[in-house]
Amino acid sequence: MRHRIAIGFASTVGCSMLLASSVRGQASFTGMGDLPGGSSFSVANAVSGDGSTVVGLSASASGFEAVRWKPGNLITLGMVDATAVSFDGTVIVGRIISGVQQAARWVEGSGVQPLGSLAPGTSSVAFGVSADGQIVVGISTSLSPGPICNPDAPPPWFTPQAFRWTVSGGMAGLGFPASGANPQSYANCISNDGTIIGGQANVDSDCANSSDAYAVAWINGAAQFIGATGLEGTGRVQDVSPDGVAFVGDDFNGPFIIINGTPVGSIKFVPSGVSAGGARVIGSNFAGSQALLWEASSGVRSIQEVLVNEFGLGAELLGWTLTHALGISDDGSVIVGRGIHNGVTEGWVAVLPKDTDGDGLLDDWEDNGVPYTDTLGRQQRYLLDIDEDGNSDADPYHKDLFVEVDAMDGPGLAPSLSDLAPVIDAFASAPILNPDGTPGIRLHVHIDETSIGTIPMPSPWVEFDQIKSQVASGTTLPGYFGTVDDRNHADGSARLDARRKAFRYCLFANTILGSTISGIAELPGNDFIVSLGGWSTPGGTSADKAGTFMHELGHTLGLGHGGRDPITGPDHTQFKPNYYSVMNYDWQTPKPWHAPNTWPLSPGRPGYSDVQFGDLDESALVECTGLVASSGFAQVLIAHNTHNSPADPVNVANNWTCCAIDWNDDGMIGCFGETVAVDLNRRTNSDPHSPGEVLKGREDWSQLIYDFKTSPDFADGRHQTSQNQPPELTLEENEALAKILPPFCLGDTNLDRAVDVVDLLAVINNWAATGGTPADTNGDGTVNVVDLLTVINAWGQCR
Ligand SMILES: [Zn+2]
Repeated sequence: MRHRIAIGFASTVGCSMLLASSVRGQASFTGMGDLPGGSSFSVANAVSGDGSTVVGLSASASGFEAVRWKPGNLITLGMVDATAVSFDGTVIVGRIISGVQQAARWVEGSGVQPLGSLAPGTSSVAFGVSADGQIVVGISTSLSPGPICNPDAPPPWFTPQAFRWTVSGGMAGLGFPASGANPQSYANCISNDGTIIGGQANVDSDCANSSDAYAVAWINGAAQFIGATGLEGTGRVQDVSPDGVAFVGDDFNGPFIIINGTPVGSIKFVPSGVSAGGARVIGSNFAGSQALLWEASSGVRSIQEVLVNEFGLGAELLGWTLTHALGISDDGSVIVGRGIHNGVTEGWVAVLPKDTDGDGLLDDWEDNGVPYTDTLGRQQRYLLDIDEDGNSDADPYHKDLFVEVDAMDGPGLAPSLSDLAPVIDAFASAPILNPDGTPGIRLHVHIDETSIGTIPMPSPWVEFDQIKSQVASGTTLPGYFGTVDDRNHADGSARLDARRKAFRYCLFANTILGSTISGIAELPGNDFIVSLGGWSTPGGTSADKAGTFMHELGHTLGLGHGGRDPITGPDHTQFKPNYYSVMNYDWQTPKPWHAPNTWPLSPGRPGYSDVQFGDLDESALVECTGLVASSGFAQVLIAHNTHNSPADPVNVANNWTCCAIDWNDDGMIGCFGETVAVDLNRRTNSDPHSPGEVLKGREDWSQLIYDFKTSPDFADGRHQTSQNQPPELTLEENEALAKILPPFCLGDTNLDRAVDVVDLLAVINNWAATGGTPADTNGDGTVNVVDLLTVINAWGQCR
């Protein structure tokens, strides 16, 4: 027991992901309280796998006593400490003091049973119990197999040894996995089924000062080291996940989280517990002053801040400082620990609903609907069910995005689902891996009311707010947000509040600011407008609608016109040649110069950037290298420059053949270390010069901000974040972009810089093919006579 105290050790308990508690969907925070008498002191050490039962200790008139807490009910167990609990809370382990301290097991209905020790040792402590309560692990004094570091002491030599105790077989030692002088071993935790035990093995090779400690796991009885090992290091498995796939602890290099054998990089806190699958890890900071929660999707966060800022529990946490998180339920939603409450140490229990797939929608909402309270004070659910088949459309293990679309009634304004299908397809194809093991994001677009009277929008957010929730709309509640049924419902307000937590709102309007500006959006946020009423095709073509919808939606997901920086946020740099995304105006709508059938990244549809190119330093461009993508990428290059001279017309530097790029358009590629300086993202002479920028390559999908509830603009009537960016693309700008000379030869289907018989055959062999082939030279979805004529007219060398 040389470096540990009994309190503060999480245990591994529980076995299934099933949680029936009716409060599970709601966040909560409760102090555990304290036994009467004695000083005021309590600690919550562990929680049962099902989240129903908390165990720990409290001070009473007779000293420290093990306690069991259930909501509003704190009882003593007849032990001095409780360190772990079975899945359903009916078996609790810890220690008693009977002369010496001894591991003990409390069973509901039959009381406390001492577990003995590894004779001739006499003292022991229990730290873990299997889900069914039948297997207990811990440490006991035992005979040392070799000399301890006090050779003057006569044998027998005693040393701590990990033990495994079973109902049928009693206590057995787990041995000493690290061989050497003064061996010791400890068992801290056990998986639900009992097959994996985690702990620590020590030796003290030189009997000098500190020992060599290794993290160890006994897997089906065989010991193996976990993580990095080294002499004079520290190491231990602090917890194993209920399903046995994740370990937390520390090794020679410091704290670790290992999931399915793979370490999570750079852990800068002390982990103490892990939920099933490694989804949530709890612990505290190195100073022991802040309880922390780690999730892959959001990194490390203060549990107190999450409870206050994300779940609005500021009042409940008044007077509290949560210092240690010590126990976690199997599904990760119930976390217990200790903190300082008005100057006194007290145990606490927090219910922290999970968002396993990190899409901003809690698992419980995705399964059962968003909770709301009806007019009779009853708890109800607002199901995320656009198709109204009675089943939730959402999946807790696969990212879902919900958007309600309403439209004004002007000509061509309302989008159809088929207009937006390419966007839905782009999200479905996103290179984002979900917890269910499949990629993609499910974009659920609810095209709701499309006959809102067309009005001008001279100050677009004012009119937007009126339409969203203020104007008479023929229903009991005003505005158009939510369905007609929602707004006529007796619990309409509560239902709309629930819907607001899950749905972004998009209005397809006519025009805004009396112009051809294509839209406006919060960044990030939940509100956006598409306004193509003044475009050549009123309301925009189907592709204009799809591209602009995805562009404005992208802003609400945190993307600027140059993508998003993981640290500094939205990148507003426009027209970066190394950024292929619908967020870049070059790619918001299809252009004649786009590569055949490529808009911008995948056949026939818009997309966010899924390839991160290398950065481009405008003051030192290396033509020989060109663009460097993180993976193979064949694409037409578009760059704007004016040769840094206001007198020059708009020019397009596109000499993309394979790898080299003639950035300054002088007809030569420099491959002897020389660099050129070109302002690559200046389109016209009226644009301000921006030489010397470093244009950052960006990948978009991994940077999306799903949870708009954390945006300062979540509340209705707030749109401050939309002020952070320049006005959106106009029709006139878009047409100017379309006229930019094609950066490749139209008709050059194989991009070999020659239009020849190969291209002619490509057209003939793909005759009547419906898109998806370079032979569709104009990208209109069909290979036909237009494409044939394009090839014939461009016959010959193209550069
Ligand atoms: Zn924009």
